[in-house]
Amino acid sequence: MSHPYSGGCEHVHTWSDQAYLDSHDCHCSICRGITGKDSLHVTFFKYADLKVDHPELLKRQPYNAKNPDGPLELCTCSVCGKPILVDDKQHRIRVIAPGLMGYDESRMTAAYHAFFDPAAGRPKPDDGRPVYEALRPDFVMPQPA
Ligand SMILES: [Zn+2]
Ligand SMILES: [Zn+2]
Repeated sequence: MSHPYSGGCEHVHTWSDQAYLDSHDCHCSICRGITGKDSLHVTFFKYADLKVDHPELLKRQPYNAKNPDGPLELCTCSVCGKPILVDDKQHRIRVIAPGLMGYDESRMTAAYHAFFDPAAGRPKPDDGRPVYEALRPDFVMPQPA
């Protein structure tokens, strides 16, 4: 069976049959740390829309090591170590980085730049897409599933 959005590794598969909520290039310090570049392309799904076939194989760690009590957890495969998804302890969203987590990036084009911090000393993106210092202003976080 094929899904419009799918990824994961050979041990843990993730997918959604529903449209994503948001897709952007995140410029926060954590995403910059992960890529070593200016940003990371991330896509948000509603929590209940992104499915995981083997959640028992996921190893969880705080997404922000400096804020271990924060809601977001990076889930990696306990077998091969590949990053699989970012889970939300509050069950609002599930986040994937399509380029790192086995998804087809061309199906979830980043619409804008988020969490751009002028104080970080990186050049402001000038590719014509909007640049915000947070998520897009009209983004509404879903209610917990
Ligand atoms: Zn980020
Ligand atoms: Zn794996």
